[in-house]
Amino acid sequence: MSAAKISLAALSLTILTAASAFGSKLQNFVCLKCHQRMTKAVRPNSPHCRAGGSHHWHSLGKVGPRIHICIKCDMLVKSVSRPNTPYCKAGGSHNWFFLGLVGRDIYVCRKCNLKLRTSARPNAPYCKAGGSHDWFRY
Ligand SMILES: [Zn+2]
Ligand SMILES: [Zn+2]
Ligand SMILES: [Zn+2]
Repeated sequence: MSAAKISLAALSLTILTAASAFGSKLQNFVCLKCHQRMTKAVRPNSPHCRAGGSHHWHSLGKVGPRIHICIKCDMLVKSVSRPNTPYCKAGGSHNWFFLGLVGRDIYVCRKCNLKLRTSARPNAPYCKAGGSHDWFRY
């Protein structure tokens, strides 16, 4: 009984630590023109976009421990909640799927080589090599 209590306390401590490590101020920014990524608390400066002129930054939402992937453009985002959806570079809106929580275990998909650091085996929807991801733990 007491052992169970201790492990539960350790678990919630781990979750709190992971959440605070990311802070709550950083946001995921992406340039809609060159697709460069940046995490900053405020909108980044915008000169020198590779696509010409200035970057056009769009916020996907706050940085956090939840890993999402867009199954249309393969963009990975670590956020506190489901990222914003407009402006997928594959056209239209992003189509986000939740893969798992950021952690210390390394998983790689045998089929598409996608590599993630998560706290448990990631979800497996929509491998770009077809069907579901086939995760193995490093
Ligand atoms: Zn740019
Ligand atoms: Zn997308
Ligand atoms: Zn895969």
